[in-house]
Amino acid sequence: MLHADTDIRFVKGVGEKRAQLFRKLGVSTVSELVHLYPRDYRDLNAVGYIADCRFNEYNYVRAYIARKPSENRIRKGMTIYKTEATDGFDVIHLSIFNNTYLAKSLSEGVEYIFYGKVTYSRGAFEMAVQSVDNISEIGKIRPVYPQTAGLTSRVISSVMAGALSVYAPDYDVIPEKIREKNKLCTLGYALHNIHFPESMQDVEKARKRLMFEELLVLQLGMAKLKGRDRGYTEYVIKKDYSEEFFRKLPFTLTNAQQNAVSDAVRDMGLHEPMNRLLQGDVGSGKTAVAASVIYTAVKNGMQAALMAPTSILAAQHYNTFKDFFEGTGINVELIVGSTSAKKKKEIKRRTENGEINLLIGTHTLIQSDVVFEKLGLVVTDEQHRFGVRQRSSLCAKGNRPHVLVMSATPIPRTLALIIYGDLDLSVLNEMPPNRQKTDTYAVDVSYRERVYAYIKKHLDAGLQGYIVCPLVEESEMLGDVSSAKEYFEKLSTGEFRNYTLGLLHGKMKPKEKDKVMTEFSEGKIQLLVSTTVIEVGVDVPNAVIMVIESAERFGLSQLHQLRGRVGRGRHKSTCILIATSLGEATKQRLDIMRRTNDGFKIADEDLKIRGPGDFFGERQHGLPEVRIADMLEDMVLCNQSQQAVREILDDDPYLEKKENEALNREIKNLFKEEYNLN
Ligand code: ADP
Ligand code: MG
Repeated sequence: MLHADTDIRFVKGVGEKRAQLFRKLGVSTVSELVHLYPRDYRDLNAVGYIADCRFNEYNYVRAYIARKPSENRIRKGMTIYKTEATDGFDVIHLSIFNNTYLAKSLSEGVEYIFYGKVTYSRGAFEMAVQSVDNISEIGKIRPVYPQTAGLTSRVISSVMAGALSVYAPDYDVIPEKIREKNKLCTLGYALHNIHFPESMQDVEKARKRLMFEELLVLQLGMAKLKGRDRGYTEYVIKKDYSEEFFRKLPFTLTNAQQNAVSDAVRDMGLHEPMNRLLQGDVGSGKTAVAASVIYTAVKNGMQAALMAPTSILAAQHYNTFKDFFEGTGINVELIVGSTSAKKKKEIKRRTENGEINLLIGTHTLIQSDVVFEKLGLVVTDEQHRFGVRQRSSLCAKGNRPHVLVMSATPIPRTLALIIYGDLDLSVLNEMPPNRQKTDTYAVDVSYRERVYAYIKKHLDAGLQGYIVCPLVEESEMLGDVSSAKEYFEKLSTGEFRNYTLGLLHGKMKPKEKDKVMTEFSEGKIQLLVSTTVIEVGVDVPNAVIMVIESAERFGLSQLHQLRGRVGRGRHKSTCILIATSLGEATKQRLDIMRRTNDGFKIADEDLKIRGPGDFFGERQHGLPEVRIADMLEDMVLCNQSQQAVREILDDDPYLEKKENEALNREIKNLFKEEYNLN
C-alpha cells in the first residue's frame, strides 16, 4: 500500500534511476506523482484520413506504412527518417526527426495512427511525425505529461496507472458541503479522470475540481497571511517629505503616482510593517513612486534597499536613482555579483555603519551577509514574476522592514486578489502624458523578407532592434520555427551578415547574459536575437523595433511585456508580430495587440481567451496548467472559489473544525517553507 508521502522509488516501475528523473519534474512522493497533471491530451477520437487533414495544423491520420523508413543524416546529432504512408486514396510523406527507436518500430504494410503537423505543398501531403500509435488505440484519450529526457509520457502514464491502482487518498481537501454546493467531484474521482479519462468531459470535470481546490487553498493561505500579525517595526515615518521630492522631479507625477506614494507613506507611519504591492503597467512610472517613498524614508533616518531581478536592471536603477537623488545628500550604492571584492568590502562596511542610505542590488543583496544599521524599507522590483516565495523570505528578515513590491503584471482584479491576496494594493491605472504609442502589426511569414528590410532600414539609421523567437521542441527544429541559436546563426551569416548581432537565451550563464545586454545597451550590438529572457530586460531607448516570431504561441500578456521593451525613447517604435499561420482565431487574438497598448485590457482579453491557468505560469504553487476548454467557465470558477473562501472563513475563521482539517493541512503544507503559519 502506498501513502501520500511514500518515496516515488517504491512505486511499481520506478527504480532509483527513474526516481531521479521524476525528481527533475518536481516529483519525489506518491502525492506529488498523482498531482503531476497532463499538460495536454491527445484525443484519438479525432483520427481521420489523409484528405481530412487541416493544413499547418496538428492532425491524427490513419494510414499504412508503404516501406521501412530510410535514414538521412543531416549533420551530427540530427537524423531524419523518411517514408510514405497511404490510406488507399492519398499518400502522405512522413519525416521523423532524431527518433531512431520510433522509426525502426514501423513495419511495412501495417496501419498506424500518425500524429504531427501536416503541410501541403506542390500537390503532396507531408507530416513531421510527433508520435505513432497502434490502430487499436482509436477512440482513446491519451494524456501528454510534462516530460524530461529519459521519461516519456508513456512511461509516466504507466507509472501513474500503477500508483493509482494501489493509492487512494483517504481524505478530501474540499469540505463536503462546499464540494456538493459547487457540484464538484471527489478527489479520488478527479485524480483518476485527470490521468485516465474516457472522454474530454471527464477531463473537464476533473480539471474543474482540481482547479477549484488549488484556488481555495491558495486564497485561504493568503487570507491567513494577510490576517497574520506582521510584527512590529521600530521604523516609522514622522514627517512626509514626498512633496519636497516631487518638486525636485523633472516632471509632475500623475494622480495615480501621487496616490500610490501617499498609500505607502501612510503605511509607514505605523509600527506595523508595510506590505504593499505597487502594480502598474510597463512604463507607468513605478520607479518615480519608489524614489519618492525611499526619499521620505531616508529623510526619516532609515536605510533602504532596492532589489532588482537581474544585475542589469539593478545597474539601471542605480543610474536612475543617482540622478534622482543628486544634490540631496543621499548616498546610493550598487552591489552585484561582478562588484570587486574590495569594493564589496567597502560597501558592506559603509552599509553597516549607516553611511549608505540606499543600497541597490539583486535579490542576493538581502540574503547575503550585508548588514544594515537601520534597514527600514525594502523595495523589490519584481517585474512580472509572482514571487510569493521571495516576498516571504523578506518578511521573515529579523528587523521587519517595510516592504514595497513593484510588479508590472497587469492582471484583472479578481486574479490580483487571489495571487496577491496577502498584500495591500496600489494600482497605477494612468500613464504619464505624451507617451508615444508603439505601432503594432500582425503579419504572416510571407512578410518576413519585408520585415527584415524594415529592420535594416532602422539599423542603418543608427537605431536598434530585437527579434524574439520562442523555444521550440527539439523535434520541430527543422520545421518552420528555428530555435534561437539556429535562427541567430542563420541571420548573422545570411540576411544580417553586415550588421552586429547578439544572441540571448535562458541557457546562458548570468555573466554571459550580462555581457550581451551591456553591449546591446551600449549600442555595440545592433540587433538582439533572443528568447523571452528579455522580458525582464534592460531599458534601451534606442531600440525601436520588436519583431516576435511565431507570435501565436505567446500569451497576449507576454506579448505585451515583450513589446514594452520598445517605445521607451523619443523615437516612434514598431512591434511586428509574425505568425506562422494567420488563421482567423490567431488574427483576432493578435488584433487585440494592435488595438490597444493597455496592459490591463490585454490581460482581461487574455484571461477570457486562455483562462487563469496560464496566468499562474510560474507555478509557484503548483497550480494546474491544464488546457482550458471553456474559458469563461474559469472566471466562474474563480468567483465560486472566492465565495467558498468567504463561507468557510465566516463559519470557521481558524479552520479548526474537523471538516476543514484536510484543507488546513494542505494550506500549511503549501506555505510551509516560507511562513510559520499556525
Ligand atoms: P515602469 O513602471 O515600467 O518601471 P518607469 O518607472 O521606468 O516605468 O518609467 C518610465 C519612464 O517614464 C521613465 O523614463 C520615467 O522617467 C518617466 N516618467 C515616470 N513618471 C512620469 C510622469 N509623471 N511624467 C512624465 N514622465 C514620467
Ligand atoms: Mg520598472
